[in-house]
Amino acid sequence: MSSPRAADRPRGRRAARLAVGALLAAATAVVALPAAPAQAAEAKVVYLTFDDGPSPRYTPQVLALLSQYGVRATFFEIGQNVAANPAVTRQVAAQGHSVQNHSWSHPDLRKLSRSAFQDQVTATDARIRAQTGTTPTCLRPPYGGVNGTVRSAAAGLGKSIQLWSVDPQDWARPGRAAIERRVLNAVKPGSVVLLHDGGGDRSQTVAALPAVLRTLKSRGYTFALLPCR
Ligand SMILES: [Zn+2]
Repeated sequence: MSSPRAADRPRGRRAARLAVGALLAAATAVVALPAAPAQAAEAKVVYLTFDDGPSPRYTPQVLALLSQYGVRATFFEIGQNVAANPAVTRQVAAQGHSVQNHSWSHPDLRKLSRSAFQDQVTATDARIRAQTGTTPTCLRPPYGGVNGTVRSAAAGLGKSIQLWSVDPQDWARPGRAAIERRVLNAVKPGSVVLLHDGGGDRSQTVAALPAVLRTLKSRGYTFALLPCR
């Protein structure tokens, strides 16, 4: 997805004139439209999501911080990791978080046959359901790899595809401060933030969480689960 930061920072006088023009156009548009009801999109809600777990090492650390700050999040878990760490998945659900489907073994779903796609999703559903009592309704394709075939296959299994709008690239371990700065610079109302609790050394993500949670709360944000029934 394109970077909202780039769009928020026009540079130079030409950019400034464009920005003024955009403001005038926006003002005109507001005048021309009928009064709108309170905009849900403007609510200061942020959706934290954690991918690639459960990890016996990092997921409990993430859970402890979320609990400390009274925050709930959505976890997109990998089926084979659930099979290896079922108690961790139970703990995630027991603390009120949402556990959703991130495939069985993290392939690029665009490269799979329909039957292999179904195996990846339904095997993961079964493992998660066995631990949480709930079948995921949301699917996050690994790498954000989506095309028409993936959308169609997901819809055929009753899955809603959920991607993200803020990606601090925490998986690449850019350092705690970079993760904090990238999230805090980019979050706006309705943002879906991609973080990782599994798939490798996630100590930087864990270290960044307290400042991220504290700062977003101080800005008036609340934290919600993605709408995966
Ligand atoms: Zn992933």
